Amino acid sequence: MSYTIKINQVQASKVSEVDINNIAMGNAFTDHMFICDYENGAWINPRIEPLAAIATHPAAMALHYGQAIFEGMKATLGNDNTPLLFRPMENAKRMNFSADRMGMPSFPEDLFVEALKKLVALEKNWIPSEEGAALYLRPFMYADEAFIGMRAATRYKFIVIASPAGPFFSKPIKLYAETKYIRAAVGGTGEAKAAGNYAGAIRPTEMAKAKGYDQVLWLDANNFEYIQEVGTMNVFFKIGGKFITPDLSGSILAGITRMSVIDLLRDKGFEVTERPITISEIIEASQNGTLEEAFGAGTAVGIAMIEEIGYKDSKLMLPKENPVSHDVNDSLNAIKTQKAEDKFGWIVPAV
Ligand code: PMP
Repeated sequence: MSYTIKINQVQASKVSEVDINNIAMGNAFTDHMFICDYENGAWINPRIEPLAAIATHPAAMALHYGQAIFEGMKATLGNDNTPLLFRPMENAKRMNFSADRMGMPSFPEDLFVEALKKLVALEKNWIPSEEGAALYLRPFMYADEAFIGMRAATRYKFIVIASPAGPFFSKPIKLYAETKYIRAAVGGTGEAKAAGNYAGAIRPTEMAKAKGYDQVLWLDANNFEYIQEVGTMNVFFKIGGKFITPDLSGSILAGITRMSVIDLLRDKGFEVTERPITISEIIEASQNGTLEEAFGAGTAVGIAMIEEIGYKDSKLMLPKENPVSHDVNDSLNAIKTQKAEDKFGWIVPAV
């Protein structure tokens, strides 16, 4: 289906006020936003407008009952400075998976991709060109019906905003394996990219930071034994020459970096197994010298090497060299900037 997206452009861009190659993600926003309303069972009036605050009724249901979901993805510059999206259809599908879990309406996937293409094409001058930099895109949906009472809302907004993110070279990270709080339980909302999941993770993350760690290593809700995720990343380990990552057992977010890394590793000749992984198994592999590499994988940082895991009263020091992980990160970045062939068909030009 083709959609008409009305565009109301700003008079003057603010891009010259921001050093887009030297700014951390989430601090500055581009000139425009995409916005679409859900009323009477239909998505209406898709449009791009100057970025501005939106008046919110104090009874807007998202503020009370938390029907709010989001996505995260990045636009990069390819050959001839063509703006590129990375697997946007996967984000569209995951957004609708989240919407379904949270009792929210699905958003047309072709309109999702079209909206991103139009917005990114319009904001092309905001895409940083430095290696490892990108324009972060944040599609989100929330219930804006004014009503007090617990039921699915009947009015929603779907919006996309964009924020330039300068080059991100992640230093190796230290993780705190959390044995009091959980991020998600099977049957809960951890598989969805629901705002509430992040709200519940904030305090444990602040506590881990206060202890000198960078992120929480989330364990399972039943036994605090099975490894789930790392902060807002999926996690991979290389043991005895083979890669393993936790299987999507119902409490883990299906990362698009995760699925891309699995394909890239297999393409490089590595065996990758998705299966339950216990913290005891990682401790044992570390002690007997078979743990070779460990990293987190997600859109915001790409690949982040793990150098240390704090678990109960002990500290596990991980291998310092992560050659395959670095190679996968380089391959991913090269595909995203068309410096390498897009053999998997992941790149979608925003034109
Ligand atoms: N897990 C969680 C909880 C996340 O928030 C994210 C970031 N979206 C990821 C994993 C990684 O997903 P992706 O590779 O799609 O960014």
